Amino acid sequence: LEFIVLKDASLNVCHEFIAPNNTKIVVTQTTKNKKIRLTFDTVNQTFKISAPQLVSFFDIQLFLKRNFEWMEKQLLKPKISVPIFKVQTGEKLFVLGLEYTLLCTVDVKKSVIFDGHTIKITGPKRAFSKILEQGLKDFIQKILFQRCFAMANRVGRSVSKITVKETKSRWGSCSSKGNLNFSWRLVFAPSYIVDYLCAHEVAHLVEMNHSHRFWSIVKKLHEDFESSKQWLKKNGKYLLHIVFEELPYER
Ligand SMILES: [Zn+2]
Repeated sequence: LEFIVLKDASLNVCHEFIAPNNTKIVVTQTTKNKKIRLTFDTVNQTFKISAPQLVSFFDIQLFLKRNFEWMEKQLLKPKISVPIFKVQTGEKLFVLGLEYTLLCTVDVKKSVIFDGHTIKITGPKRAFSKILEQGLKDFIQKILFQRCFAMANRVGRSVSKITVKETKSRWGSCSSKGNLNFSWRLVFAPSYIVDYLCAHEVAHLVEMNHSHRFWSIVKKLHEDFESSKQWLKKNGKYLLHIVFEELPYER
């Protein structure tokens, strides 16, 4: 096992090591980190280390040596392939656990309309995937607002603002000002998973931690939260990597 230092920035010390099979390991050291953590991204097949600022290069080397076998095992696991979804008429898409068929029509006007089991998309050529993505973002934001608003009411709190964004790994977060953020990709999850995430973030309006008290509030808002957590653990990565692909239209 060999290690090569490639970068060394002053604030966030960042080294790159080479792991089994020439896989790169990016090491980030910040004062925020309390211990050395090693993670593996199955989609990009890369390792990441986050370490406290004061840990030495030598300590990280030792840590990697101790985890060498685990790293080899990760690389032997089957790769997750990036799910590519074609935005074209006739394609099926799951939104909040319900199956919809796409109907794409070229038009100067951009719109996304949920009509029964059909999602009708209109817009200029080569823009359908962007229009659909925006339509799904607007749709999930409305759903999240309704559900969080109702749940916050039940625990005697109020939601200031709900934002949906593109996040790399987090499904939701809650700020001290009572702003809730969610990944727009929750739109691809079943409805009860969205409920769980709402319950989770709303519970943070009461308890800004993951204590027993926090989980009992989550349970009050979403009874079966354990199975929802399991579902996200198993399927979450897939949802985070869904890519919309445009149909190559003839000119
Ligand atoms: Zn949390």
